[in-house]
Order: sequence, then structure tokens, then C-alpha cells
Amino acid sequence: MSRLLIVVDMEGISGIERYEQCVRGHPEYEEGVRLLCNEVNVIAETALKSGARTVSVIDWHGGGGNLDREKLDSRVEIVPEDLSPGYDLAFLIGFHPMAGDPAGFISHTMRQGLAVAAHGQQIGELALIAWWLGEHGIPIGLISGDRAATSEADRFFPDTPLHTVKRAESWGRAACVPVEQSHEALRTRVERVFEQPGRWTVYPPTLPLAFRLKLQRPNPLPGLLPWLEEQSDGWLAGEVARTRDLIDLIDVISGMINLQHRNDYIQALARDPNVRKRMNQVQQERISQQIEEGHWSP
Ligand SMILES: [Zn+2]
Repeated sequence: MSRLLIVVDMEGISGIERYEQCVRGHPEYEEGVRLLCNEVNVIAETALKSGARTVSVIDWHGGGGNLDREKLDSRVEIVPEDLSPGYDLAFLIGFHPMAGDPAGFISHTMRQGLAVAAHGQQIGELALIAWWLGEHGIPIGLISGDRAATSEADRFFPDTPLHTVKRAESWGRAACVPVEQSHEALRTRVERVFEQPGRWTVYPPTLPLAFRLKLQRPNPLPGLLPWLEEQSDGWLAGEVARTRDLIDLIDVISGMINLQHRNDYIQALARDPNVRKRMNQVQQERISQQIEEGHWSP
């Protein structure tokens, strides 16, 4: 009896065929969440019948918070991005291919506008997660996503069973296999995974991990990080002892890109004279408040 970990993304979930369904706060997002929870339930139910003792889920999309507890099978536990509890088997479900794959649905690596390479080849989230799991000795039993994601998985992880649920029509649009049909095939695949523990494969990376990062839009901030070196071709290079350190570093850089976007947004707003006037007002109010509260003592 094994402890199953599902690492679930959203873009490669059965039935999700529009980018908007993956964007938090968009009116179509709710339908995306429904499809996401449905797919987790199908896998969990089949896994528990087929020999899993527990089912834990890491909600990988956009830093988590997408899974709706109310819509999930009560036996599924939502867990943080921490592998220390120990798992016997992992599934990578609902994935998209790496940045730049022209045949992929919502191709990106960790965020839009960022490319990641390691050991001299471009990699995507599938490799980052598989290596992170591999460092903890956790084997992968199944990978699912759009056609381009499963082809990428096949190149990197040829020993692992795959499940394809859609193909891209453009970056933000896909044509899905009917959801019921996809889930029927998924049930059969999950059963087979538990019948064939010999095919569960651990993918440990070569460490240390020499990596390179490239940003689509110029941004001065990441180059300031002391452990990144800017190279003549515009890529940033570095080395980490563990894959998780690279994932965390990418999260930091992602925050820097968001900061840049926010600055651009504020500057665009400030070009409107009315907004500029209001911003000056807010600043003056803030200064008055600071003067008033300046002598605060704990
Ligand atoms: Zn995602």
C-alpha cells in the first residue's frame, strides 16, 4: 500500500481549452477549477481502489490555492510543496510544455516570458519537478497534459506512462478529448500503474545543477542577484546544489518580473493627468500621516 503524491497543474487538465479558464479572477476560472477538481477526484478514487493508502496533492498552478476543498474527494489531502513527509509514488497531472514550444497549449516555464536551461538544454516544469522528486527518491508513475507536454515528457522521461488530453490550436486555445472519454482512459492508466510497480521510475538530476535563464523582456533586477552571472548572449547563468533551490530562485525572479510589470502599470496610469494629481494627493496624505505618527514609541 503506497502513499501517492499528485503534483497537479491546470493548463493540461481534461476539458480546459481556453487560457482564460486558468486565470484566477477571470469569469471562466470557476469552470477551470471545477474541471481541475474533477480530474483529481477521478485519479484519487481509482488510486485508492488500486492500492494507494493515501492520496496527497500539491496544487502547483500559480503558487497554489486553486483546488476547492468542497469539490474534492474528502480522502484527498492538499499538502504544501514539501517532500519531507515521504511519498512512494508521484503523478504529474495537467501539465503544459516548456517556454517556446510552438505546438504547446500555454507553453511556458514557471511563468510567461522566462526560459530555463540546465546542463546545456532547455527544460520545462516537468523536468524541474521530476528532478526535485528524484532528489528525494520519489518515482514517477504517470504524466498527463497536452500533446506537446507529453511529447516533452517522452523525450526526458521515456520510461514513464503518459496520458494526452488535448492538442493546442494556438498558444491560448486547445481542442480537448471529450472529458468522459479522457477520464475513462485515465482510470485504466492509473489501474495499470499500480499493477506495474516495476515501471515506477526515479529521475535524479546530475548535481550540482548548472543552469541558465533568459527573460523575454529586459529587466535589470535579476542581474543584481549575486549568484547569477550575466553572459554575453544575454542569458543569466548560475549553479545550485539542488533542484529545489533553482525552483525557489525562479520564484524570486518571477517576483521581480511582477514588480517590473507593476511599475510599468503605475507609470502608464501616471501619464493620465487626473491620476497623476490623485497620486500626488495620496502621497501628501501619506506624508502628513507620517509626520503625525512620527514620534511613535513602543
Ligand atoms: Zn500552471
